[in-house]
Amino acid sequence: MFAVDERIEPRIRIAGFQSTLGSGSTESEETMPKSNSSPIPARADVKTFPLAAPNRGRVNLVGMTRPTMRKALVAKGTPEAKAKMRVAQIWQWIYQKGAREFQCMTNLAKEYRNFLQENFSIAVPEITRRLVSSDGTRKYLLRITDGNEIETVYIPDVDRGTLCISSQVGCTLNCSFCYTGTQPLVRNLAPAEIVGQILVARDDLDEWPEPGRHPKNETRLVSNIVLMGMGEPLYNFDNVRDAVLIAMDNEGISFSKRRITLSTSGVAPMLARVGEEIGCRLAISLHATTDNVRDKLVPINRKWNIEALMKAIREYPELSNSDRVTFEYVMIKGVNDSLDDAHRLVRMIRGIPSKVNLIPFNEWPGAPYERSDPEQIRKFAHVVFRAGYASPVRTPRGEDIMAACGQLKSDSVKLRRSLRTAREDRQALANSMRPN
Ligand code: SF4
Repeated sequence: MFAVDERIEPRIRIAGFQSTLGSGSTESEETMPKSNSSPIPARADVKTFPLAAPNRGRVNLVGMTRPTMRKALVAKGTPEAKAKMRVAQIWQWIYQKGAREFQCMTNLAKEYRNFLQENFSIAVPEITRRLVSSDGTRKYLLRITDGNEIETVYIPDVDRGTLCISSQVGCTLNCSFCYTGTQPLVRNLAPAEIVGQILVARDDLDEWPEPGRHPKNETRLVSNIVLMGMGEPLYNFDNVRDAVLIAMDNEGISFSKRRITLSTSGVAPMLARVGEEIGCRLAISLHATTDNVRDKLVPINRKWNIEALMKAIREYPELSNSDRVTFEYVMIKGVNDSLDDAHRLVRMIRGIPSKVNLIPFNEWPGAPYERSDPEQIRKFAHVVFRAGYASPVRTPRGEDIMAACGQLKSDSVKLRRSLRTAREDRQALANSMRPN
């Protein structure tokens, strides 16, 4: 799998300004992978990237809300009277122009840039592996500050480019059809690590706007964000909210709330806060039409059952035909794919502006289920469609690069384990050969 090793060309990277530097370059120059400015390649490839130098105790400005950044700047000596303006300037450089280096911030005095350089960093997760599918899907394995790894997936389409981001390392919820659910929860991601996934993807796609040019959402390569990667976002609500609000900030990445979808397995009591504090679109991992089956597929159902979940969804603000809830429904052979299920489903969601995404089960090694037959999926979709709900069947994407969520991380863990074992074996052999 590790077919290609890419050497990194040290450079400072900002949209429209790319300066290649010589030796003696700074930390972020060394970490920055060479971006790929060519169109998305129509072939599967794998790249591995070297890791960054440590942060040397500097405070990371990425992921801070504006008030927090203001406080951080003042605490290190920025005059109160100028702090708001400084935040606005730095914010634009990081989130609108893609700056990863303070020295690029040419509208700040050199002295102030040096001050920022000494006290702060602009740190985002690092790409350690990138797989590009023959269908253009890009899957990133990203390493975060403590060495943990997360996955982010970019899915290009004719009229949009969707970035699927993670909110936790691992997951506690153990949905029985989900590969990530087989991995233990390690920790919640910080806002920097959540919004950082967007920044990293834009770096990799070379998608920072030219100075003075602000492409519309619909013409962007990354036009939509879905929180559907590793983890349950509503078990990390505060950090997810801060990261999403940063992504929505008009003077930064500037995603409209209608282009951000938060997917939950059904933490019903938190939906009201999502509506009030974020206001983005909702996707619900429904996957079953009876509590009996859902208890097994999505065990959080034992805490908030289908009735409680549906009640919370009906109360979600601003639901309308143009702002629909998406119900995700994984199609598993003989488990949840009968036509009785289809009829129960449409009764269950009646009156909720919604669509139903039917997802053929993505089999992974050791999976306890099989994908439903295509004919059964077609019949199921027809029942839902006839009841007045869009029922697209999701085309499996990136199958040649292991599309099962969590699989890339799992492979990386296995690889590290086998390298460790090989090192230990070698050491044991050397010890046994040593003269007494
Ligand atoms: S489907 Fe989502 S909530 Fe369920 S185990 Fe997988 S990552 Fe966790």
